[in-house]
Amino acid sequence: MDNKVEICSRQETISFIKTFMAVFVPLLVFLMMFHLTIYHGKKKQALQSLGNFEVHRASVVVETLLEHFDWIFADLNFVANKYLAASLVATHQDLVLVDIEKDLLLFSREKKIYDQIRIIDSEGREQLRINYNGGAAYTVPAKELQDKSLRYYFKDCMALESGNIYLSPLDLNIEHGEVEVPFKPIIRIGRPVLDRHGRKSGMVLLNYLGSDFISHVSDELAYPHHDDLVGSGPTMLVNAEGYWLVAPDKEDEWGFMFAHRKGRSFANRYPLEWAHISTEKNGHLLTTNGFFAFATIQHPLAAFIPEAGSFGKVISFVSAERIERIIYREKALFYLLSVVLLSFSAIVALLVATLVASKKRYELELAHSVLTDPLTGLVNRRGFQLRMEQEARRVDRYGGRMFVILGDIDHFKNINDAHGHDAGDFILKKLAGTLTASLRSTDVLCRWGGEEFMILMSGYTQEDGARVAEKLRQAVEEEIVWHNNPRIMVTMSFGVCIYRKKMNMEELLKCSNEMVATSKTNGGNQVTAENHDGVSGKSAIMPSR
Ligand code: GH3
Ligand code: MG
Ligand code: MG
Repeated sequence: MDNKVEICSRQETISFIKTFMAVFVPLLVFLMMFHLTIYHGKKKQALQSLGNFEVHRASVVVETLLEHFDWIFADLNFVANKYLAASLVATHQDLVLVDIEKDLLLFSREKKIYDQIRIIDSEGREQLRINYNGGAAYTVPAKELQDKSLRYYFKDCMALESGNIYLSPLDLNIEHGEVEVPFKPIIRIGRPVLDRHGRKSGMVLLNYLGSDFISHVSDELAYPHHDDLVGSGPTMLVNAEGYWLVAPDKEDEWGFMFAHRKGRSFANRYPLEWAHISTEKNGHLLTTNGFFAFATIQHPLAAFIPEAGSFGKVISFVSAERIERIIYREKALFYLLSVVLLSFSAIVALLVATLVASKKRYELELAHSVLTDPLTGLVNRRGFQLRMEQEARRVDRYGGRMFVILGDIDHFKNINDAHGHDAGDFILKKLAGTLTASLRSTDVLCRWGGEEFMILMSGYTQEDGARVAEKLRQAVEEEIVWHNNPRIMVTMSFGVCIYRKKMNMEELLKCSNEMVATSKTNGGNQVTAENHDGVSGKSAIMPSR
């Protein structure tokens, strides 16, 4: 019996786990997919918002820089016009220079952003040079004027038609063949000029101090931080070839000016990123190196020189660690919610599994109760008949033997009358236990009704059936039943019948009733078994006493 309970509960556990998993896994997968989609959306949104902010920042820098170029071009035109006006009235070139020198000195001092203002002749020789240094403007003595015919800017500017503007890339100033230290970033802006006869007589050239230009980029570094960014930046300035002009590490700057720094460029350090940044106007991208937002500084002369390309890029860089910190909140929320969803799925699955299990148990109990006698807990008549039909089919098909033993308590009515109905019930329960103890677990014992018990046995010979019945009879007789103290004597009469192939069940039952009746007629407390041939005439083959 215990074994049966154990098997039952093990099956219940397995079925419980199956139901739990069947609910838990799909529910969790569904919720997590939903959750992941939202998380990725939010992450994307956070990066998009960061990107928009950083691109905007870079674009503001670009706008500021381009505005400066407009002012510088205006300055260049001012100097060129001054020179032209002087050449038209002067009879000699030297007089022209004398004429404009004073004005240019004043101009240089007031502007503060031109390292040099020069007039260079068509041969490349400096004719007039106003230097601006440490807040003072002065004219360079004639003997110190240099030959610039081999410098790229001279050649490039002189190649232009008059009226056109020349703009050099941003690089470091070179004096007498050496990079001037401390570094002096310079952009050269020039225009060819004509003499009084309308011939190209040279050029005016302004060395615009790049530090002024760069300071605008640096100023942007102090731009108020984005709320979500825990501090963004740093901002880099990269020229059209991918070299740093402003870099987080000063050592990386101006790589193209020095042989030993040649490899140091943004393009070399971040080739993948540069491939994207160099071809797009502006935008942002996230790579394993970090987050890059960029804006292109269009060439200030792009309107006149379509092939001018870009002047460089302003790139705002946010390191991968900082990106991690930006999306940390989303991530933390993601994990927290994952735990909640996991728990939720587990609780739902647990509830469903519990409900299903209790429903199954209820159905099982219901089915069990339909086939069980509530007083003794034995199989009832209905359950017994089902088993009997089953066993009969088995014998019909495979052979073997099957018996039924019907047992009826002698004078039970009297017992009830003498000791009360409760005592009667008590005895019925007691005898159910006594009979069960005397049978094998493969035998089926049922409460047939009232004070009758029926036993189904298979695999026994007829004699064996009678012997078992006799054993039962003795066990009942020897059972000492006490109820509320009086000792009650109980005996039973038995009838044993054999099942023959294809026999009608009614016949078998009728036979067992007849056998019991014979036992009763003969005085009760005895066993009557069907004859060997199973035909007529019944006799108590093992009459007791
Ligand atoms: P016999 O020896 O001829 O079998 O006499 P008997 O009194 O045992 O048989 P009878 O058929 O005359 O009476 C059966 C009695 O069994 C009648 C009824 O009160 C009693 N009985 C039937 N079912 C129950 C039950 O569940 N509880 C109790 N206490 N008594 C029951
Ligand atoms: Mg009876
Ligand atoms: Mg009876």
